[in-house]
Amino acid sequence: MDIQFPRLDTRAQSDLVAQVYSKIASGQRISREEGIHLFDVEDLTTLGLLADAVRWKHHPEKEVSYIIDRNINYTNVCTADCKFCAFYRRPGDAEGYTLDKETIGKKIQETLDLGGTRILLQGGHNPELKIEWYEEMFRWIKSTYSIILHALSPSEIITISKVSRISVPEVISRLKAAGLDSIPGGGAEILSDRVRAIIAPGKTSSAEWLGVMEEAHKLGLKTTATMMFGHVETVAERVDHMILCRELQDKTGGFYNFIPWTFHRGNTELDFVLLPEREKTSAFEYLKTVAISRIMVDNIPTIQSSWVTQGLKVAQISLRFGANDFGSLMIEENVVSATGLQYNMTLKKMTKAIKTAGFTPVQRNW
Ligand code: SF4
Repeated sequence: MDIQFPRLDTRAQSDLVAQVYSKIASGQRISREEGIHLFDVEDLTTLGLLADAVRWKHHPEKEVSYIIDRNINYTNVCTADCKFCAFYRRPGDAEGYTLDKETIGKKIQETLDLGGTRILLQGGHNPELKIEWYEEMFRWIKSTYSIILHALSPSEIITISKVSRISVPEVISRLKAAGLDSIPGGGAEILSDRVRAIIAPGKTSSAEWLGVMEEAHKLGLKTTATMMFGHVETVAERVDHMILCRELQDKTGGFYNFIPWTFHRGNTELDFVLLPEREKTSAFEYLKTVAISRIMVDNIPTIQSSWVTQGLKVAQISLRFGANDFGSLMIEENVVSATGLQYNMTLKKMTKAIKTAGFTPVQRNW
């Protein structure tokens, strides 16, 4: 097998880089302090090389996965008031909506017709929707279409539990029985209650987000973990976020994908009120954070790149900074595009980017 574990002349490197490289080579874990100091390394290509070493350990095959799915935002009605969100409408707003079965069904059929295998069903914290609405919708979807149902981030699950007055484990097991296949890790933002109090005070606490994921993993559901960075967090808080995910993964093994992506300025309260002077997160900072994610989160098998927030070229480069998955072709996306950011992606462009980076594109359905 062609394993491309990168070689590094550690004599030419700082003590920190040499130490991290030798730990990776011998399978040792990188500490919190080392992770924080890695953010001080200005030699980006060396960080990429360290991340690549971890990547090849997980994925000795020369492949990059991707999925064709559709992001269906079933409701934009939300009470969470996240300051970075340009998508939601408060209950009672004339622009609020909840999709009916016919509309959702039409979107699923279009997804299948385009070669899609999964739908990502996510929405706001809608106080009108109880567990029965979701159970009926999920049963109908799964009995009508042959599609993977990846749905409801932890904060939506907690909202359903509150609105329906039942426990989180009950919500998850009932939804699983109704056809839920896996849970997206959206809403993790940065798992620091200091950060969450500033950017998303109406959303789950860090412990609640992790608690829902733990319950889901215990009940046999696989989930992803996201990290939205480049707003009010410190690099130490990014590293803590990575370590919290790593610790839960040690316990449950239920995360299959770690997805770092950048906060995008545009149309949101956060950029106008909280961050008037903050620069847009650069490609350099994005690639550095992807690389450090791969190095730190050594037990989640896949790191996903983010063409949605970074564009095709930077996403392609991230394949040499620890990412081994290109994410979704995303037939429909409303939340990031509501900030004004939009990249047009086609299957041809995506697979060409993967191939020209030296990998074989492989479509996944999980
Ligand atoms: S990000 Fe989600 S939870 Fe937050 S306001 Fe927007 S729709 Fe609501």
